[in-house]
Amino acid sequence: MDRMGRVPKASANATAEMVASKVRNVDVERKRVSVLGATGSVGRSTLDLMGRNPHMFEVVALTGNNNVDALAELAVRHGASMAVVGDDRHYAALKSRLAGTGIEAGAGAAALAEAAMQSADCVVAGISGAAGLRPTLAAVSQGRRVALANKECLVLAGRMFMQAVRDAGTELVPVDSEHSAVFQAIAGADPATIERIVLTASGGPFRTWSREQLARATPEEALCHPNWSMGRKITIDSATLMNKGLELIEAFHLFPVLPAQLEVVVHPQSIVHALVEFCDGSMLAQLASPDMRTPIALSLAWPARMSAPTKRLDLVEVAQLSFERPDEGRFQALGLARQAMQRGGMAPAVLNAANEVAVEAFLTRRMGFLQIAKLVAETLDMAEGRNLLAEVDDLNGVLAVDAAARGLALNLLETWSLSAAH
Ligand code: NAD
Ligand code: MG
Repeated sequence: MDRMGRVPKASANATAEMVASKVRNVDVERKRVSVLGATGSVGRSTLDLMGRNPHMFEVVALTGNNNVDALAELAVRHGASMAVVGDDRHYAALKSRLAGTGIEAGAGAAALAEAAMQSADCVVAGISGAAGLRPTLAAVSQGRRVALANKECLVLAGRMFMQAVRDAGTELVPVDSEHSAVFQAIAGADPATIERIVLTASGGPFRTWSREQLARATPEEALCHPNWSMGRKITIDSATLMNKGLELIEAFHLFPVLPAQLEVVVHPQSIVHALVEFCDGSMLAQLASPDMRTPIALSLAWPARMSAPTKRLDLVEVAQLSFERPDEGRFQALGLARQAMQRGGMAPAVLNAANEVAVEAFLTRRMGFLQIAKLVAETLDMAEGRNLLAEVDDLNGVLAVDAAARGLALNLLETWSLSAAH
C-alpha cells in the first residue's frame, strides 16, 4: 500500500484472489438447486452456470424425459442426489446407468413431482410444454422458490398457479428473457405507476417473408432462428410468433397489468428484451446479448447477481437498434393468443394444447406452416362450442381441458388429411 492508501495492482489482484479462494474454500452456504428439464436447452444452460460456480451451488435433483444417457451423465458430472425420467419405460435403463453412483433413480409422473419437492433453495422449471405444470406446482406447494422457464404453467393455469404461489408464500423469478427484463425494470416499483409493458420479439426467421413464402416454409427453415439457440418447440413458436403470444399471457399473470397495457414490438437484433413505461414517461429497458445464461443467472442468484460468461455488448458494434410493429396478418398466432388472454378462462390452455399438436404436426410434415395458426383458431372455435373455455380452478380440471383440446385438434387434423386425400 502506498501513502495514499492505494494498493498496487498486482497486490490488489492477489487480495482479490485470496478473498475468492476463501469464498471457495470456507464453508459458505451453497444454494441447493434442482433442475426440472435438465437435459433441455434451459436445463443445460443452468447446469453450465452452476458447473462454473461449484462454490455457490449444489445440485439436488435433475430430471429428463427419455434421454437416459444424457441425464445420467449430467447427474454424475454435477453430483446430483436424484435423477428422474418422466417416461417410466426408461426406469430400468436409468437405474442400471446409475448403479454404484449413490444417485437415486426414479421414473414417471409421481417421481417427477417427488424430484420437484426435494428440499432445495431453488427449483428451475425447465420442462417444456404442459408436462411442466404438475411438477412445478409440486415445487411451489413445498414453498420452494421457483425459477420459472416453463411458461405453460402460467398459460394453462395462470390464476391457479399464482394463487398457489401466494398460498405457499414463496417467490417466482422469471427466466424467460423478456420477463426477466420486466422483472428487473419494475424492481419493486408501485404497480400504480406502471403504464405499459412492451415485450420485444425478434420476428423469427420469417420476419420478412410473404404469405406465399410462408405457405411453403419447411421445418428446417423454421428451426433456423436468427438470434437464439433454443429447444425445437419454442423455436417453431418463435417463427409463428405464438411464442410472443404465450409470453403476453405469461406477463399478464406475472405482473400487475391489464391486457390492454401489454404490447409487442418486433426488434430484430434481440438486444432489448423488454421495456416498462412508467407514469412519468420514463421507459426502462434491459439490454443483453441474446444468451439465456443472463436471465438464468439472475434467477439463480436473485436478489444478488452472479457472473455469467456471455458476450458483452459493444454498443458501437451493435450500432443500431430497430423496432417495428408485428404484422398480425402474416403472423396470426399473435392475435389468437391476445384474444385468448382477453377471453380468459381456459381459452389460453386450449390455445396452448392446440398449438402443441400443431407444432408437432408441422415438424412431422403432416401440415404446412400457415396451418399452425389455422388449427389453433379452429380448435378454439370448437372448444367454445363445447363449453370448454370456462375457468377451472383445480389441476385435474385444467389437465382434462388440456387433454380434451388436444383431442379436438387431433380430430381436426385427421379431418384435414382425409379431405386432402380425397
Ligand atoms: P427443450 O426441448 O430443449 O427441453 C425440454 C426439457 O423438458 C428436456 O429436459 C426434456 O427431457 C423435458 N421434457 C419434455 N417433455 C417432458 C415430459 N413429458 N415429461 C418430463 N420431462 C419432459 O426445451 P427448452 O427450450 O429448454 O424450453 C423449456 C421451457 O423453457 C419451455 O417451456 C420454454 O417455453 C421455456 N423457455 C425456453 C427458452 C430457451 O431459450 N430455450 C427461453 C425462454 C423460455
Ligand atoms: Mg422469451
